[in-house]
Amino acid sequence: MAAAAPAAAPAAKKKDVKKGPVKAKLSKKDAYKVNGNKVERTKPACPKCGPGIFMATHKDRVSCGKCGYTEFNKKE
Ligand SMILES: [Zn+2]
Repeated sequence: MAAAAPAAAPAAKKKDVKKGPVKAKLSKKDAYKVNGNKVERTKPACPKCGPGIFMATHKDRVSCGKCGYTEFNKKE
């Protein structure tokens, strides 16, 4: 059996996909940075949830994904 392949198949429809930089989800690993033999936290911890919960940092604020606490950066 022969598959009837259309001779003039339209060129692959390329959707103009304009995706911004892929936002990687912050993993627990990224919240720490090993500096020598010290471990530094690179993200602020949520004051409501405790030191185990890190805040998501935005350009003008930090927010907790768990309780929703948001703290805006002070403008200078
Ligand atoms: Zn929280």
